[in-house]
Amino acid sequence: MNTIMLKAYAKINLGLDVLGKREDGYHEVRMIMQTIRLYDKLNMKKINKDEIIINTNLTYLPTNENNLVYKAIQMLKDEYGLKQGVYVDLQKHIPVAAGLAGGSSDAAAALIGMNRLFQLKLSKKDLMERAVKLGADIPYCILGGTALSEGIGEILTPLESMPSAYILIAKPSINVSTKYVYENLKLDEKTIHPDIDGIMDAINKKDLHGVTERLSNVLESVTIEKYPVIQEIKDTMMQNGAMNSLMSGSGPTVFGIFQDMNLAKKAFYQLKVQGKAKQIYLTDIFNRKRG
Ligand code: ATP
Repeated sequence: MNTIMLKAYAKINLGLDVLGKREDGYHEVRMIMQTIRLYDKLNMKKINKDEIIINTNLTYLPTNENNLVYKAIQMLKDEYGLKQGVYVDLQKHIPVAAGLAGGSSDAAAALIGMNRLFQLKLSKKDLMERAVKLGADIPYCILGGTALSEGIGEILTPLESMPSAYILIAKPSINVSTKYVYENLKLDEKTIHPDIDGIMDAINKKDLHGVTERLSNVLESVTIEKYPVIQEIKDTMMQNGAMNSLMSGSGPTVFGIFQDMNLAKKAFYQLKVQGKAKQIYLTDIFNRKRG
């Protein structure tokens, strides 16, 4: 095999809790992760030069060792002493620095692609163990589907698939630093923690309402306080028929969950007219796990 095409899917957090800060500086999290049908495309090709070449449609993205795809390829090239190089055409559709794990998902796809291209025979578990060295969300991106994520994100428990629903994604054109959000998160007795166990129960019962009524993200207060536009986008989603709406990850992307496609389309156009979100996508839950 000399070429391979992969799709790298975005995720949303149905629940995001932070339990505390560890001595090594990482935060201990408890999150419900869900893949959505919004993806980047990677075309990977073996080349005879010993180089990693990345071409992407977003001119502002790094194409050198600062790109997570580059890092993923380099890691397996080094470990296996591979002398052939790789060319990657990366078509980005997932908003960047958005809380949708776009870069992490690209890295996960690159690891899977390398495993197949060079027949490394690594199991999913082997790939996930290597993935966490590049980023806490990358093991989940290899797993995909509906999952509980604990530790710093590397302890994963696959869950029953979340019931299907339409997902409206809206990102305002602000850049949120994940570091800023975590640094400004104050956890005390007043903190309202998401009901992660309740979300898991609802997922097990295939109870979409039970999931949506419990959507909660402990990071929202920090990001919304700095960027009220996030709340305004959430309000627009709710006024236009979303079962519920939440910020994903550390933001600033907001997602709304809809049962009715027509309502979701109406909300999509209302957001366009309102002009507060610059990137808006109507997609749905994607549950097929990677083979
Ligand atoms: P997360 O939800 O894991 O916090 P995110 O959506 O906030 O992810 P990314 O889109 O993964 O953030 O990108 C964060 C930063 O990583 C960007 O500023 C970008 O320069 C860098 N980066 C490196 N490689 C990639 C890539 N392949 N795609 C997107 N960003 C990348």
